[in-house]
Amino acid sequence: MQLFSIFGNPVSHSRSPLMHNTVFKNLNYKGCYTRTHLLEGSKLKETFFNLKLSGANVTVPHKEAAFEACDEVRGFAQKVGVVNTLINENGKLIGYNTDADGFMFSIEEFKDVKKVLIIGAGGTAKALSMKFLDEGLEVSVLNRSAGRLEFFQSIGCKVYSWDDFQISEFDLVVNTTSAGLSDENLPAPQEMIEDILSHTRYAADAIYGKLTPFLRLAQEKNIPFKDGADMLLGQGVLANELFTNYTLKKEDIKEQMQKSFLY
Ligand code: NDP
Repeated sequence: MQLFSIFGNPVSHSRSPLMHNTVFKNLNYKGCYTRTHLLEGSKLKETFFNLKLSGANVTVPHKEAAFEACDEVRGFAQKVGVVNTLINENGKLIGYNTDADGFMFSIEEFKDVKKVLIIGAGGTAKALSMKFLDEGLEVSVLNRSAGRLEFFQSIGCKVYSWDDFQISEFDLVVNTTSAGLSDENLPAPQEMIEDILSHTRYAADAIYGKLTPFLRLAQEKNIPFKDGADMLLGQGVLANELFTNYTLKKEDIKEQMQKSFLY
């Protein structure tokens, strides 16, 4: 039996155990996926090996710590410095990022998206901004504090803190902050969010499982929106392929994982 887990703080809200266990059970894969509440990112590697894990996912706020903890980082994760999937490869910790492709999968129905505003400057924002730039989109980033914006400026995004934000027209606004996850906060002052939502065609939130105050405002303004459920599904399918070392078919993983959203 192979063991897998998700590391996060908080982690009790995570649907990942249900998603992956549904795939393992229904496709007869000998795997078991649990939750690990991890307070300090610096303890990630030690905890991973102490738990004898074959693989893991990493969520808020440890994705950058996960990058640091890896013996080797592959693919898109290398480019962004953010890891959400870990694999034990012969005792070495290998890191991947499946969030960005998962998000692209989730917004396929939003058409002609050229200008994007990302709210937040954490790990998810890094992955998405890099992916959007790779896809040729114009990317702006708004964060409550200026300290984390340097990275985004260096890769070619327009950057704003709450103090110097200037409104313009966007096709898509994405909330990647954890505001609204376990509270009822908006990701920026209400007036600013109202203004942003009046200047966008679509809205999305990385948070899933609830209508966040941000999406509630988008709904009130009749803006088509998506919560983070499809992103979660997309990143989960790609992570499960890595966990099972491509022995299961992607379409089968997706079909079974989708079922877990009905529970
Ligand atoms: P990080 O901790 O790396 O970054 C969090 C960001 O949110 C920071 O920019 C921080 O700003 C900002 N922030 C936190 N609280 C507030 C607040 N009250 N008001 C304004 N800004 C705030 O988190 P991640 O990028 O890893 O994750 C962010 C969110 O995305 C989480 O809710 C997570 O659950 C969700 N997520 C969903 C996924 C899915 O599959 N659906 C996948 C990945 C993430 P500052 O720099 O000022 O501290």
